[in-house]
Amino acid sequence: MEQFQSGTGSSGKRGMVENLKRYGVISSKRVAQVMEALDRGLFVPVGSSAYVDTPVPIGYNATISAPHMHATCLQLLEDKLHPGMRALDVGSGTGYLTGCFALMVGAEGRVVGVDHIPELVDMSIKNIEKSVAASFLKKGSLSLHVGDGRKGWQEFAPYDAIHVGAAASEIPQPLLDQLKPGGRMVIPLGTYFQELKVIDKNEDGSIKVHTETSVRYVPLTSRVEQLGGF
Ligand code: SAH
Repeated sequence: MEQFQSGTGSSGKRGMVENLKRYGVISSKRVAQVMEALDRGLFVPVGSSAYVDTPVPIGYNATISAPHMHATCLQLLEDKLHPGMRALDVGSGTGYLTGCFALMVGAEGRVVGVDHIPELVDMSIKNIEKSVAASFLKKGSLSLHVGDGRKGWQEFAPYDAIHVGAAASEIPQPLLDQLKPGGRMVIPLGTYFQELKVIDKNEDGSIKVHTETSVRYVPLTSRVEQLGGF
């Protein structure tokens, strides 16, 4: 990962990662490295605090998740994000986590981000282009698409890692179908009360689910529902 270390201008990112380590959120060296390398400041709207541990509104009734949620999900998926592996980010929003995945699986891997708001997908592409993950977008191991993420993204399935960045009322079947045997999905489930679920698909195709923590995400829904009142 050395090639992604930027020596300058990183006190904010470094401070953010140091705090997450201090509070016990980050214990993985790889996750610390990747979150330091990919500058969250390039992914939040101008003028908002990039390195404070809080979600930030990004328009369209969406938010970029708080750094501790990004760190938690990266750690839960870390074993499925080795070089050459495949990852799907549903509700990719700003593209921050999608970019982290790309740094972790490298040029031999494949990362797909899907969001149903075209303006957010355009923005995420611009964000990535400014970042250390730009080369993956250029070379084609990372792509961001407009689509209903509840259907997954069949083209590059099956995936070792699936992250869902919005809360579903139930686990969408296409996402389970597109998870590789041996793969892992992290998905917030619920409406008002939500829990982050970790779903492991065994080699025989059976599923094991455990609850990680209580969370608060925007809903995984239709575009019309999401934009209602926006
Ligand atoms: N993980 C991202 C964004 C989280 S906000 C980040 O941290 O930047 C949740 C995102 O899910 C929003 O961008 C929203 O547009 C998207 N979303 C909600 N329902 C969706 C659906 N059915 N298909 C695709 N994207 C969806």
